Amino acid sequence: MKSSQDVVIVGAGIIGSSIARQLSQYQLNITLLDQASDVSCGTTKANSAIIHAGYDAKPQTLQAKYNVQGSLLWPLLAKELAFPYRQLGSLVLSFDEKQDEILKELLNRGQQNGVSGLEIWNQKKILREEPALSSRVHSALYAPSAAIVCPYQAAIALTENAIHNGVTWLPSYPVKKISQDKDGFVINDEIHTRYLINASGVNSDKVAALIGDTSFTISPRRGEYLILDKQQLVNHVLFQTPTPLGKGVLLAPTVDGNVLLGPTAIDCKDPTDTQVTQNGIDLILSQAKTILKDPVPPVISGFAGIRALAGDDFIVGPSQVHPHFFNCAGIGSPGLASSPAIALAIRDYLQEAGLKLIEKPDFDPCRHQRLPIHSLSNRNKDLLIQENPNYGKIVCRCETISEQEIIDAITAELPALTLDGLKRRLRVGMGRCQGGFCTPRLLRLLEQYGHLKPAQINKNEPGSNLIYNETKGARHA
Ligand SMILES: Cc1cc2nc3c(=O)[nH]c(=O)nc-3n(C[C@H](O)[C@H](O)[C@H](O)COP(=O)(O)OP(=O)(O)OC[C@H]3O[C@@H](n4cnc5c(N)ncnc54)[C@H](O)[C@@H]3O)c2cc1C
Repeated sequence: MKSSQDVVIVGAGIIGSSIARQLSQYQLNITLLDQASDVSCGTTKANSAIIHAGYDAKPQTLQAKYNVQGSLLWPLLAKELAFPYRQLGSLVLSFDEKQDEILKELLNRGQQNGVSGLEIWNQKKILREEPALSSRVHSALYAPSAAIVCPYQAAIALTENAIHNGVTWLPSYPVKKISQDKDGFVINDEIHTRYLINASGVNSDKVAALIGDTSFTISPRRGEYLILDKQQLVNHVLFQTPTPLGKGVLLAPTVDGNVLLGPTAIDCKDPTDTQVTQNGIDLILSQAKTILKDPVPPVISGFAGIRALAGDDFIVGPSQVHPHFFNCAGIGSPGLASSPAIALAIRDYLQEAGLKLIEKPDFDPCRHQRLPIHSLSNRNKDLLIQENPNYGKIVCRCETISEQEIIDAITAELPALTLDGLKRRLRVGMGRCQGGFCTPRLLRLLEQYGHLKPAQINKNEPGSNLIYNETKGARHA
């Protein structure tokens, strides 16, 4: 037996990492594991990144409850864990009288859900606040509490803080078998745990089925996005009025200053099908054109994420099959916004199920991060470079990321050992050149400080290596 735990959390997306961080304040043995080599490699890395205000979910649903509760918890989390969070507010745009009526329904729903500060804006006010919009806009529902974050940076921050407070992180560990004994569960014949949390996203039905819980099935639905270069195009998160076919395409700034367009909503059989299709691109651009007064600015990249849907609402709570097995499943949108509240709900469920929660006297809620070099004053940059000249060697020119920041990420307690892992922590390769200049240097640093051979270095998951063989020289012979 590899180890014996109080709680094992399967899946290190935003849900698993939020739960791990929430539980890390108690005297418990906890393991957070994932089949991937890093946190946030599932849906959490690819979504709209919006902390929704909470007017969209139907009243009395778990989505409404956790969204409204969760959105209020994000500001403190972002402060404690030093990740970007910007409360910009959102606008749902109406372009005709029929859509005005839908806005009134959303306003009413939001008030029932307990969302504060909702207002209907007229055309004059909208165009004053959002001059890039088409003058066809009629009215809008304004929600001041809506915000944007970077979801993978949030998941990384939560996991780093959980590790700092004693949680064990186990990457590259797919759960394939769960057996039960009188005290709990044995995972893959190796890890014993008294309580098990299933936060495995698109695979949560398969993981639940390992204990015989077949009460739900996950239906994957792909959402494709386009990213525009950094610019001040819009000031709020802009939604279209929802229709029976979906919420339409949104336009939103990202916390890094780019503009996000999307998503599409395409049912797909394969939960790993994150392709960006020509149809998707055409649909997004045609919808964006109807919102903006000028042509859509040039696109620099695209990506897609998979919604893990299980009916109309989230599934959060004990499995019918075993009271110590908890499902967090069907967590489609607004799962990101809801994640801090879902973590609190799981804590309460564990306590109700008999887990003793004794607070750690030395729990540290804060993540202690060095500020990115590009955000420092020239004087502070000079001081840092005098201390360590590697801070003065800029590897990623588009995003101004230094060699030492990359080394720090590779050698951290939650290390970045893939190109995408570095990207998610530092934004290396995410600028206009999309890694054209810095990738060879990143490979060299991963080789040197991550102790990986070039052919072992993946872009993301195993099999995504950029280098297959040495062509000459054989440095590793
Ligand atoms: C297009 C799109 C737009 C969205 N926009 C928003 C938004 O703006 N706001 C919002 O609030 N929400 C949004 N969401 C929803 C939000 O992204 C999800 O609710 C959230 O990311 C789900 O997190 P998770 O931790 O449940 O799943 P994931 O992030 O998928 O994490 C599950 C983890 O489990 C691991 N795993 C799977 N199987 C196993 C196994 N057998 N063993 C070990 N590990 C396993 C995976 O590797 C993965 O890391 C959006 C979703 C999509 C797809």
